[in-house]
Amino acid sequence: MVLSSVLGFPRIGPNRELKKATEAYWAGKTSAEDLLKVGKEIRANNWKLQKAAGVDIIASNDFSFYDQVLDLSLLFNVIPDRYTKYNLPALDTLFAMGRGLQRPATESSPAVDVPALEMVKWFDSNYHYVRPTFSHSTVFKLNGSKPVDEYLEAKELGVETRPVVVGPVSYLYLGKADKDSLDLEPISLLPKILPVYVELLKKLAAAGAKSVQIDEPVLVLDLPKNVQAAYKTAYETLAKESGVELILTTYFGDVRPNLDAIKGLPVAGFHYDFVRVPEQLDEVAAALTSQQILSVGVVDGRNIWKTDFAKAIKVVEAAKAKVGADRVIVATSSSLLHTPVDLANEKKLNPEIKDWFSFATQKLSEVVVIAKAVSGGNVEAELEANKKSIDARAKSEITNDAAVRKRLSEVSEADTKRKSPFAARLAAQEKTLNLPLFPTTTIGSFPQTKEIRINRNKFTKGEITAEEYEKFIEKEIQEVVKFQEEIGLDVLVHGEPERNDMVQYFGEQLKGFAFTTNGWVQSYGSRYVRPPIIVGDVSRPAAMTVKESKYAQSITKKPMKGMLTGPVTILRWSFPRDDLSAKEQCQQLALALRDEVNDLEKAGIYVIQVDEPAIREGLPLREGAERAAYVQWAPESFRLATSGVEDGTQIHSHFCYSDLDPAHIKALDADVVSIEFSKKDDSKYIQEFSNYPNHIGLGLFDIHSPRVPPQDEFESRIQSIVGVYPKQNLWVNPDCGLKTRKWDETKRQLTNMVNAAKVYREKY
Ligand code: GLN
Ligand code: ZN
Repeated sequence: MVLSSVLGFPRIGPNRELKKATEAYWAGKTSAEDLLKVGKEIRANNWKLQKAAGVDIIASNDFSFYDQVLDLSLLFNVIPDRYTKYNLPALDTLFAMGRGLQRPATESSPAVDVPALEMVKWFDSNYHYVRPTFSHSTVFKLNGSKPVDEYLEAKELGVETRPVVVGPVSYLYLGKADKDSLDLEPISLLPKILPVYVELLKKLAAAGAKSVQIDEPVLVLDLPKNVQAAYKTAYETLAKESGVELILTTYFGDVRPNLDAIKGLPVAGFHYDFVRVPEQLDEVAAALTSQQILSVGVVDGRNIWKTDFAKAIKVVEAAKAKVGADRVIVATSSSLLHTPVDLANEKKLNPEIKDWFSFATQKLSEVVVIAKAVSGGNVEAELEANKKSIDARAKSEITNDAAVRKRLSEVSEADTKRKSPFAARLAAQEKTLNLPLFPTTTIGSFPQTKEIRINRNKFTKGEITAEEYEKFIEKEIQEVVKFQEEIGLDVLVHGEPERNDMVQYFGEQLKGFAFTTNGWVQSYGSRYVRPPIIVGDVSRPAAMTVKESKYAQSITKKPMKGMLTGPVTILRWSFPRDDLSAKEQCQQLALALRDEVNDLEKAGIYVIQVDEPAIREGLPLREGAERAAYVQWAPESFRLATSGVEDGTQIHSHFCYSDLDPAHIKALDADVVSIEFSKKDDSKYIQEFSNYPNHIGLGLFDIHSPRVPPQDEFESRIQSIVGVYPKQNLWVNPDCGLKTRKWDETKRQLTNMVNAAKVYREKY
């Protein structure tokens, strides 16, 4: 019998229950008990759902109130002093580390003011983890028992689970040194953290856990020698001392370059991603001992397409032939965290298209069917139905648009270049825009208030007319414009009130996309996104943003910045096709956006920002041919979208939370870039972009946090940048858009920021 296994299930609830409960708690409307109760219900439902679907190996500890890596930091006492000094309850410490906390003193407690820890993208996904932050004074110890509690909670419900924890090498390697300990290399802490892992694993074993899924996702990266070597130390200790079977788990890529580091480790087995890299089977199978298990990830944890059973079964059969049926497990490629919860909730999808999809709940049955199929079970009907939908999609006309293919074939290199080099463009732009030194701007969105959401909902439901909605949006734009004028920002934005999301908004207006009504996926904390799905060739039937930008420009004399999401980011934050290359999908998007950019210019918008925050996460995880190709085609797509304008039109781009490579940014040839910066407390990071030839704004405050930095904090941030960058190149702006903030915070944050810029303008 081949067993089926699911590496983790979405934790947000089928109707975003977790978000609602968490935000109610943050707003002080509900108690911690209320929130804990919702968490418990979600976990119970998830486990029961998986058991009912017939999944053999079900994960526990895949739940989190914020992020599973942050949970581990709390559990292992990796909590910088700035969070412990307030003696907050554990749950509030978790949230303070995740999102920062600022609150005034009350009679019973002192004021709290602490920024969030750094948040980083989880490999090439749009999930973000909170970066473990170590210092010389970090003392590892078990600070709680979440994995054990949740294991026992499932057991009480009659569900035997396999707890999942991030392994020690990945946990350390994904972390960083705190600003007081910059000489500290996190991996050097391995000997100190291992005893705590042992203690945790022993407790899990004592609670009855037979095996533990220990995630080592960094195994798909290019690892330095000392990190590779850490595997032997780590897993010999853990296997010998913990008394529990370990399934060493990795996903999202190719493990082969690191295979020597894990070959022969005394673990019970390994899990690998065969959706991304089916070619690794021979080598990974050959590296197993005669006892070790191979968990074969064939159901995609990162996308929404129905699994092609015939193809998946072939992979599993090949694994069976190599290691024997009793040592093979059929699994999801990764946790299902990255997929929406349930396709059954989608009532509005075109049935033809809906039949091509499979969300987390559907994927449960997929692993079960595949495991049955390779165990000789009778699943003929399921295989037959699957073949029918796979064939139907391949043949469908929805996927092919001859006009799009033709236009793409005619693109020339000249289409990907601006008319003149930067210096000439700058001169032309100075004439059109006439900006002061240290020009101030924002990244686009302003707070998405309840009122905005209510009106958008009403409009979607047909409860208000298009004219009424348009009037409402205009009123919102007026307020945002008025506020920006009042505080003296230089390049204004319209605030994006009409947008539900920076990608979905465009997806809904482009041909070739399908979108869901409830297909939410966690991005970070309580922020979820609803990625559109690219189902066919992409084109732009009509202008998408011109109306709002033009209106906004009509009510101010200051330059209004048009606001678009770039081709790479739309691609990355959508569920992409798996039947056309990423490059071609991106170029199709670029051509659609090029028309939009040109139309904005025609409408009198002479500053146009094309956001590419996802450009870094699209970078293939390892060095090699795939990466070399990406660093060509990704910037080229951006340039294809933005090079149709005159020299006097200023193209901006924006990037957030990622370790960007300045060379990649340079290749975009944008006139101005804005980069998230405020949480980079490594003082060397400031140098990173100092050779950027065009203009640049390093983000001055963290938009994920309600915290309001005082004006002098802004001044000292500007001071540190002015020391390193030519002052005439500098812009003053926040880290990112303000949509998740409240108005009150935003007003104070931006006022302090603008006033600080004015101080510097006087100085020079
Ligand atoms: N223009 C977008 C906004 O301000 C950019 C968001 C992002 O980079 N994530 O919301
Ligand atoms: Zn951003």
